Amino acid sequence: MPVLPAEVRIFDYAVPLIIVGAGACGSVAALAAHERGVEVLLLERDPVPRGSTALSGGQIPAAGTRLQKKAGIDDTPEILEGDIIAKAEGQCDKAIARHIARESAKTIDWLAETHKLPLSCIDDFVYPGHSRMHMHASPSRFGAEHMDVLTHKVPGHYHRLPWPGRIHGLAVWSRHNFATPHILPLPASALPGRVPRRRSQIVQIGEITFANVHLSHGQLLNRRQLLRIAGALRGKPSAIIGDYNAVGPSLIPGFADVGPREATHFGADVVPFRLDRCLAHGLICSFAGTLDFGPSDHKPIVLDLQIAVARVRRHPLQRARRRLVKIRAAFR
Ligand SMILES: Cc1cc2nc3c(=O)[nH]c(=O)nc-3n(C[C@H](O)[C@H](O)[C@H](O)COP(=O)(O)OP(=O)(O)OC[C@H]3O[C@@H](n4cnc5c(N)ncnc54)[C@H](O)[C@@H]3O)c2cc1C
Repeated sequence: MPVLPAEVRIFDYAVPLIIVGAGACGSVAALAAHERGVEVLLLERDPVPRGSTALSGGQIPAAGTRLQKKAGIDDTPEILEGDIIAKAEGQCDKAIARHIARESAKTIDWLAETHKLPLSCIDDFVYPGHSRMHMHASPSRFGAEHMDVLTHKVPGHYHRLPWPGRIHGLAVWSRHNFATPHILPLPASALPGRVPRRRSQIVQIGEITFANVHLSHGQLLNRRQLLRIAGALRGKPSAIIGDYNAVGPSLIPGFADVGPREATHFGADVVPFRLDRCLAHGLICSFAGTLDFGPSDHKPIVLDLQIAVARVRRHPLQRARRRLVKIRAAFR
């Protein structure tokens, strides 16, 4: 964006404060200034102010808020400051980290009490890298809930396969219409008291079959589950995608591990490991990456998959004839 020198610009009126961008930062700054009687001009580029804020999980870290106290969480700005600096591996501006941590409780209390933002303290989940439950969010903070609401908010087609007794489940959304996925039961542990039996959601989108999975953590069991899925896909262009805790290569015949080679989860909130994967058969993957953590404790993975065009093996006589045609063309 070009920056023009002030002396060559003449404006019809002046305001003491201009804020550029009406995302969370700009809007909250404008609200605070307005409350103190300052005339504010808030400039927004887009027709509707949304920004990254509208895409986010909406979880706001803060320490020492009244909501935390009500939930029995003992937290201090010093702990939050330490967590911010540790999460940034010491690379952030430490004075700003301290300032944010010190102002955080005041800001959340003000937004919740004065401006009635529907915030609550997340008291059942410690965010990766945090040593206290610092996060505050709106009531519908779970990904699964967001996704169910999504179907009513946006066009497109959505199917969720709930997992009894769990907040999460398997789900698929597409802009384009697709057949109702079918359910593939997977091998289960013989041990008593295990969680409900795992299933895969088999989804046909265009010519690609997707097996959406959340497999068991047992190393032998999840291999058996992968083999069952690979058998059900019957050699079609397909991808097995989702959460599977396979230590080492999966070695499923005909399938290549094309998912991003980076940690997508922290075991016990500490140990980083690659849990979200994609095995592909008959597909070319031109991009594999991850997005930042959203409301989930897994990083979403992003893949660009296309059907591999098989190289046609011609008969030697056909190959000789094609070569001859090329040579003749060259001498014409
Ligand atoms: C998927 C996802 C999940 C996330 N989850 C979380 C989370 O749970 N917790 C968390 O703390 N953070 C989360 N984040 C990060 C968080 O969303 C951002 O850090 C935060 O929203 C940034 O707020 P902002 O106001 O600075 O920017 P934005 O919300 O992006 O607002 C910037 C605004 O400025 C406008 N603008 C840009 N240029 C101009 C211009 N030249 N003139 C006028 N207007 C302009 C834009 O249109 C936009 O509206 C997440 C981000 C993503 C993408």
